[in-house]
Amino acid sequence: MLSFDDALKRAVSHGVRTGTESVALLEANGRVLANPVTARTNQPPFDASAMDGYGVRATDVRAGATLKLVGTSQAGAGFEGTLATGECVRILTGAPTPAGVDAVVMQEKVSVDGKNVTFQDTTSPGSCIRKTGNDFEMGDVLVAAGKRLNPASLALIAAGNVPEVEVRQRPHIGLLATGDELATPGDTLAPGQIVGSNRFGLAPLLAPLSAAVHDLGNAIDEEQPLRAALEAALSGPSDILITTGGVSVGDRDLVVPVLKSLGAEIVFWKVAMRPGKPIVFARLGNKLIFGLPGNPVSAFVGAITLVLPALKALNGIADPLPRTLHLPLASPLPQNGPRRHFMRGRLTCRNGASAIEPIMQMDSAHLSSFSEADGLIVIEENRPAADAESLTPFISFAHEGIPASG
Ligand code: AMP
Ligand code: MG
Repeated sequence: MLSFDDALKRAVSHGVRTGTESVALLEANGRVLANPVTARTNQPPFDASAMDGYGVRATDVRAGATLKLVGTSQAGAGFEGTLATGECVRILTGAPTPAGVDAVVMQEKVSVDGKNVTFQDTTSPGSCIRKTGNDFEMGDVLVAAGKRLNPASLALIAAGNVPEVEVRQRPHIGLLATGDELATPGDTLAPGQIVGSNRFGLAPLLAPLSAAVHDLGNAIDEEQPLRAALEAALSGPSDILITTGGVSVGDRDLVVPVLKSLGAEIVFWKVAMRPGKPIVFARLGNKLIFGLPGNPVSAFVGAITLVLPALKALNGIADPLPRTLHLPLASPLPQNGPRRHFMRGRLTCRNGASAIEPIMQMDSAHLSSFSEADGLIVIEENRPAADAESLTPFISFAHEGIPASG
């Protein structure tokens, strides 16, 4: 069986990228840069005061020295003249430093009597001055291609005097559940039916990385209707189709044979992971298809560990792997078997530091325990039993953009 690491490599190296488009900064949060953004100005554009205070020649200033106040430099309106020896200017935060000024003394460290400003101490050249370009210089790369824009990077790009950015178009996602037994929330359940919940968790999970999630409903486990549903899904706008259910080896698990009959290439089917083993990844031309198992926790784990990285790569994100944290366990873990285990875990505090409490519920249909989790504890294949305090990799939902449940 394919190892989880090999499956992850294949999931992210499909090589499909969406096109690009130009968007205004206020529309760009969460978008992925297609090209690097370079600064069109120095920041700051001029030597500027970092304080409200007095601009001086540093050599004039010592304890008890009095300088003559000759003018003001404020943000947006500098002092035009050149400071002579024995003089100082009132200067406000963000104001350009006038010619001749090589230091700023904060106002709390002087006493003022009319036009006479008396200093308490020496200062040194450059003190309280932000030099031209000390944050960034014109032509510097502010944000690299393949980065996802966030509030801080957008403020940085704006400061660089760049009004719009070239970003990746977001992919369209199709979501199709399969299973004869599936009802829709609100239905009266017939005997043997359960409510199909997967679409309702996967849609919001994947939405932040998509232009639209197309809900394709529930398909039944019969060859002809399933083929029709998959064919329609693959000829629609979706760049990536996610199905749930029907990928195991039961008599009515028809997703893989039907995908094959439609000409899809099966990149992998079955991964040494727990839960989520029957997951399938296939391609039809430039369309990507993930067949997730039907059990809700398996579907979520497959979506978080394999679909999200593939979707990030499709979005052009340069580093599509989850950002794994390494945290101590709050309680011990038993030895693992031969498959990578993604165990539900909750963030807690132990001995004054963050730690992960394993949730000892392994049933892959058990959604209430999954909804208590803050992330997935990643347990390597055959890892021996681990004591409390052992450092353990943890895929934090918050770091994957999944809001905490509180
Ligand atoms: P399957 O992968 O089709 O063998 O389904 C495995 C288990 O997951 C079965 O108990 C199904 O009833 C259940 N299941 C399948 N699809 C869904 C769904 N969309 N929501 C909740 N449970 C599901
Ligand atoms: Mg089924």
